Amino acid sequence: MRKKLVSTIMAGLMGVMLAACGSAEAKEPASTAEASTEAAPASAEATGATEATSESDGAESEGVSEDVQAIIDRGVLRVGVKNAVIGFGYEDPLTGEYSGLEIELAKALAAKLGVDVEFTAVTAATRTELLDSGDIDCVLATFTITDERKESWDFTTPYYTDYVSVLVEDSKGITTLEKLVDATVGVSSGSTSAKSLVSAMIEAGVISGDGFDPETFDPATWTEGIKFQQYDDYPTISTALSAGEVDAFCVDKSILAIYKTEGRSYIDAEFSPQEYGIATKKASGLSAVTEELVTALLADGTIDSLIKENGLE
Ligand code: GLU
Repeated sequence: MRKKLVSTIMAGLMGVMLAACGSAEAKEPASTAEASTEAAPASAEATGATEATSESDGAESEGVSEDVQAIIDRGVLRVGVKNAVIGFGYEDPLTGEYSGLEIELAKALAAKLGVDVEFTAVTAATRTELLDSGDIDCVLATFTITDERKESWDFTTPYYTDYVSVLVEDSKGITTLEKLVDATVGVSSGSTSAKSLVSAMIEAGVISGDGFDPETFDPATWTEGIKFQQYDDYPTISTALSAGEVDAFCVDKSILAIYKTEGRSYIDAEFSPQEYGIATKKASGLSAVTEELVTALLADGTIDSLIKENGLE
């Protein structure tokens, strides 16, 4: 079941469009299966960015690849986004409106292609399978670029760098990596979090790291000085933290923010830079289009402005 509410947005210069993007959006429950669609400006200028590139800076002149043409023909770009990461991908529970840096980048990408944009809420556990299956065209969902992931998907140049941290209930008295030794930590399946935490604890000298191999590391079997419980989504980890099922909740700070409620604190450690990129199918035509978009928006200061506007400095 999918409700669509399409509105027209004034087309204009890309930077102006980004600042002005405030269209009505479909009200949707937060679910991985549902999506909302909104219009992106279908200006000749936007379409021309991929199709008639000879008029622009000449960076892409060969015409449109098959996968990009399919999106143009469909008239909708399907983007996997987060729905509970304020400032990145957040769906207002009352209005169903999505906002954040990644939402604006998705709108800009759709505008470049001259199509509407449809958001599908994804998690760390679902985003790659939805991309692989073709349910979504790209992932713009706090997706950290890693060498291992680059073997399976294409990533753009990073548009943001976050860090990993750990959230605890104050009552536990865990304030440092040292005090986290022997704790059980909740992490999301499919995330970089557990490996980042183990690396940070080894670096800080609080665990020995015997048997640690980044290539083969598995959170499910790691027991040297720290244990992990894996969950499918973040609300479930937050509930597990309240219930005392886990002692701590580890993930990127941007994601933790919404769960830092009264009586909870971050421990005194920020580690493992997480560079976020747009992910697309390997060697797809869309990979080139996303890279072009991100590099252009980095170069002209748009991404910097969006970072400021979304309170992500
Ligand atoms: N950014 C991290 C990752 O890509 C944390 C997981 C997430 O984005 O939900 O693994």
